[in-house]
Amino acid sequence: MLLEAPGGPLRDVERPVPAIGFGDVLLRVRACGVCRTDLHVLDGELPDPVLPLVLGHEIVGTVERAGANVTRLHVGDRVGVPWLGWACGRCRFCRRGAENLCPYARFTGYQHDGGYAQYTVADADFVFPLPPALADAEAAPLLCAGLIGYRTLRLAGDAERVGLYGFGAAAHLVAQVLRHQGRRAFAFTRPGDTRTQEFARGLGCAWAGDSTGPAPEPLDAALIFAPDGALVPLALRAVEPGGVVVCGGIHMSPIPSFPYETLWGERVLRSVANLTRRDGTEFLRLAGDAGLRAEAHAYPLARANDALDDLRHGRFTGAAVLVPGH
Ligand SMILES: [Zn+2]
Ligand SMILES: [Zn+2]
Repeated sequence: MLLEAPGGPLRDVERPVPAIGFGDVLLRVRACGVCRTDLHVLDGELPDPVLPLVLGHEIVGTVERAGANVTRLHVGDRVGVPWLGWACGRCRFCRRGAENLCPYARFTGYQHDGGYAQYTVADADFVFPLPPALADAEAAPLLCAGLIGYRTLRLAGDAERVGLYGFGAAAHLVAQVLRHQGRRAFAFTRPGDTRTQEFARGLGCAWAGDSTGPAPEPLDAALIFAPDGALVPLALRAVEPGGVVVCGGIHMSPIPSFPYETLWGERVLRSVANLTRRDGTEFLRLAGDAGLRAEAHAYPLARANDALDDLRHGRFTGAAVLVPGH
């Protein structure tokens, strides 16, 4: 499913199975999650997609062929491909363990073709083994929603009461991590979205309500997954002095100005950019231990445009996943 120009729609085209380099693996795609970032790329909100492009960076695939230099993976192995497709390993950021900030990094489904396809190519050093208990469609949302959700939570420290603004694919996984760790989650949704609030309570959230209303009690941290800048001052007001607000998305509408006192009291506001392989390894181990379950809504690959549209309009709870027929 090919993106040829900003705005889309994706077009169903037939292309040859891609060739691989020495360090790559050719994967047969088993499932690929649909992420909000895909919508930002589709809408032309991110600066440099390489068009025409195959979107998709939550890929579960099995190795079909391995390049000559690949020793760690073998034909038939099941792996996950995340957003970080490659980093240089040499720059200042890479050398200090911040490969997520590498200025030369390349991202899956953005600067090279991703997983809205029957086959894809990935650098063997940047793919992860997956918890065996999870079915393909259940594992796919872990690779961005789960992983970025985990990094967002990690950067909030060991907060006990954690607000989740925007209860979609990422938050529904973070809520399960919090429950597993004995911490309390508070879900903030679009005003009046009682279906999602119900869904959040079903996953163990201590409270669920409208994002525009006050929190039921002061929070220690708030994680923002909805791409709405207006949530930033709301979340800062919901956290106690010393509290942390982390923006987990790659794109957000402008943040309205707010008085300094909203930030004062040593509140911290920060963003999360991308992921490191360390995040991936840690999170996927935790996902197995905690028995995380993604609520996956499967669409056939050819219905990718419908899946994106349903995500845009909040027509499902949990995560959409494309499943190619073969
Ligand atoms: Zn680098
Ligand atoms: Zn993503």
